[in-house]
Amino acid sequence: MSVAPFKSTLSAEGNSGLSVSRDENTADFNINRFIQYLAEAVLVVNTDGVIECANAKAALLLNRIERPLLGESWPDFLHDRCVAQYQGLVKIVAKQVLSLQTGPTEMVIRCANGELKDIELSVSFLSEPEARLLLILRDLTRQKAEFEQLRRQAATDALTGLANRRSFDEQLLHHWLQCTAAKRPLSVIIIDIDFFKQFNDSYGHIQGDACLRKVARAILQAMPLDAQLAARYGGEEFALILPNYNEIKALAVAREVQQAVRQLQFTDAALPASVGITVSQGIASEINGQFRTSTALLCAADTALYRAKADGRDCINTSC
Ligand code: GH3
Ligand code: MG
Ligand code: MG
Repeated sequence: MSVAPFKSTLSAEGNSGLSVSRDENTADFNINRFIQYLAEAVLVVNTDGVIECANAKAALLLNRIERPLLGESWPDFLHDRCVAQYQGLVKIVAKQVLSLQTGPTEMVIRCANGELKDIELSVSFLSEPEARLLLILRDLTRQKAEFEQLRRQAATDALTGLANRRSFDEQLLHHWLQCTAAKRPLSVIIIDIDFFKQFNDSYGHIQGDACLRKVARAILQAMPLDAQLAARYGGEEFALILPNYNEIKALAVAREVQQAVRQLQFTDAALPASVGITVSQGIASEINGQFRTSTALLCAADTALYRAKADGRDCINTSC
C-alpha cells in the first residue's frame, strides 16, 4: 500500500506553522515532511537553539498552536534549572565522540501558557546539510502523576489513610539517625485498641473497620502539629514518631490520645450510646544513648505497651 499522506501540500495538523510544498526537494523539506508523521513531538533547532522545524505534536506539547514555533528560541521553553543541563547534552552530541545521540533525559518545560510539564528529551546531531539538532520530546505528565499516586499508595494504609508500616519503619530510621546525630530526643508511642476482638465479635468486622478509622482520626486530632508521623503499625495497633520529644512531652501526647479515644461515640453507626473503646499505650524515649538502635527503641515501646495491658488496659506505660 502506498503512503497516502506523502502528496501535494503538507501542512502540519494543529497549525504548528509548518507548510511545505512537494517541489521543495531539499534535505530540509524531507525532515520537515518526515517529522509530521512521527508519533513523538519533534523539533529541529540550529546550534543557537533557534527552532527551524517543528511538528504538530511539538506545537501541542508546548501549547503553541496559535502562532508558529519557527524562529523561536527553544531554550526559552526550558525551565531555568534545565538550561545548563540541556547545554551539557548539546556539548556531548556536538563533540560526536561517543554517539550522535543523548538521552532520554528528564527535563521540565514551561509551555506557552505558563504550564510546567515534565518531559523526556533525546537530542540527536544532524550534520547535514548543516549542523543542527533534532529534539524528541516525550510528555511525562501522565507517568509522573501515576508514579506519584503509586508512591503515595505504597506508603499509605488503605483502611485508615495513615502511614503504613513500611513508611513508619523508613521514617523511624530517618528520625533516629537525625536525632541521635544531633543529640536531640526522640520518642515513640505504640497504641493498641483494648479488647478489639470483642468489638469485632459483638458488632462485626465492618463496624470494626469503621472503628479503626475513627481511632485513626482521633489520633491525628490529638497529635501535636510538630509530631512527625502517625502510622497504622498492624491490625489494631498504631504508632507515633515524635522527634525532639522527651518522655514527659511524649506522655502528654499519649494522654491526649487517651482522652480523644475515650470520647469516641458509635451512635452514628447505629450502635448503643454505651459502646465505647479505650487504648493502651507504650512509650519509649531515646535521650542520652540508652538505646543502641531504632529497633531497640521500638522494642522498648512494645514492652511498655505489654505492661500497660497488664496494668488493666486504658493505661499508659513508659519504658523506664
Ligand atoms: P487486647 O486488649 O489484649 O489488645 O485485646 P484485643 O482483642 O484487642 O487483641 P487481639 O490481638 O486478641 O485481637 C485483635 C483483633 O483485631 C483481632 C482481629 O480480628 C482484629 N483486627 C485486626 N486487623 C483488623 C482489621 O483490619 N479490621 C477489623 N475489623 N479487625 C481487625
Ligand atoms: Mg494488638
Ligand atoms: Mg488490642
